[in-house]
Amino acid sequence: LTSGLEAAWTKLKGEDVLTKENIVEPMRDIRRALLEADVSLPVVKRFIQSVSEEAVGTGVIKGVRPDQQLVKIVSDELVKLMGGEVSELVFAKSAPTVILLAGLQGVGKTTVSAKLAFYLKKQGKSCMLIAGDVYRPAAIDQLVILGKQVDVPVYAAGTQIKPAVIARQGLAEARKKNVDVVIMDTAGRLEIDKAMMDELKEVKRVLNPTEVLLVVDAMTGQEAAALVTTFNVEIGITGAILTKLDGDSRGGAALTVKEVSGKPIKLVGRGERMEDLEPFYPDRMAGRILGMGDVLSFVEKAQEVMRQEEAEDLQKKIKSAKFDFNDFLKQTRTVAKMGSMARVVGMIPGMGKITPAQIREAEKNVKIMEAMIEVMTPEERENPELLAESPPRRRRVAQGSGKTEQQVSQLVAQLFQMRVRMKNLMGVMEGGSLPSMEN
Ligand code: GDP
Ligand code: MG
Repeated sequence: LTSGLEAAWTKLKGEDVLTKENIVEPMRDIRRALLEADVSLPVVKRFIQSVSEEAVGTGVIKGVRPDQQLVKIVSDELVKLMGGEVSELVFAKSAPTVILLAGLQGVGKTTVSAKLAFYLKKQGKSCMLIAGDVYRPAAIDQLVILGKQVDVPVYAAGTQIKPAVIARQGLAEARKKNVDVVIMDTAGRLEIDKAMMDELKEVKRVLNPTEVLLVVDAMTGQEAAALVTTFNVEIGITGAILTKLDGDSRGGAALTVKEVSGKPIKLVGRGERMEDLEPFYPDRMAGRILGMGDVLSFVEKAQEVMRQEEAEDLQKKIKSAKFDFNDFLKQTRTVAKMGSMARVVGMIPGMGKITPAQIREAEKNVKIMEAMIEVMTPEERENPELLAESPPRRRRVAQGSGKTEQQVSQLVAQLFQMRVRMKNLMGVMEGGSLPSMEN
């Protein structure tokens, strides 16, 4: 796989623009990465189609190679496909808010019921749980025990009463108790069947819930699309909770949920403990999905290659002290771009932890530098000495770019500092390749 990837991406590396033809191979790799991450095939197909359309004709930003740009487009689209932002739980205008949980057996509904109560309690909401799994006495005990653990009352009425009736009684009890949120746990089957759906429909009618959350095991593979579709069509869901993300699942189901139902994942379960429930972050999930394929390692590879090539080119310039504003701009832009890509793709080894604030700062600085370099004449860009020696030139650049003369002087000084720093590094490295700028 890796060698195939390398070949495809190496080919793309030399191009200036993304075309229908040159993205075929890389997109095939991305398709494979998504399938390996267990994203459902129809979803993968649609995704590849829309990303390809978006990518074709994308002009290449100076300092960013097309292959990297393609990865960026893919990451952005993944994030968008998963809803873009965190989707908050919705609360009813007048209490109680009712949350109905549904899903197959063993996915984590009962655990999530208690986790969710604990999660909401921390936000200052009073909760009550309703034990609706009447098929297994142990399921009721399990919820009662978990309820005690998180100190939330559980309404249980045994196994002899229909879930819809339990729901009605439980809701009445919740109203009496004036709780803010009622969470109903339900029974699941190993497979979707009509009896389960009919029962859920009835419960839903009785409860008129604000949220109907489908609990999905992150390990769910290709069958996620059919599963989500059926639940959504049959009972109508408002969102999903993805459980068992702490395992080594690839999480492709995350992509499928939103795509086939239009409903977001709202929360994720990351373990068996009560505190292991958190909001769903689409950007982190995109990183996980891409990281599971070879795409992320490709990104690293691409950066390495780029560093090498640019380093060779730079080496020559530095040796002759020719490192100029054009190089400066290219370098700075590259670093800033990598930063914003790192944010999307997740953390890239070797770049250290980059905070969003640092990235924003870097991007802002690049914009300021760009503005100043853009109004320089070609001679000035190639010969920074011209600016260093001439206050009128600096004044002209300041006026033309809307920056202060001090900012221009700083930029010029920075370039000379960089020359010195690079020359020193070259000496140390004795003809070795140049390390990246952040070192
Ligand atoms: P239900 O049949 O849908 O009610 O599923 P349960 O809540 O009984 O959970 C089934 C099993 O999965 C239990 O052993 C849980 O402890 C476990 N489980 C639930 N959520 C998670 C999770 O996020 N991570 C891990 N590792 N295990 C979980
Ligand atoms: Mg259960």
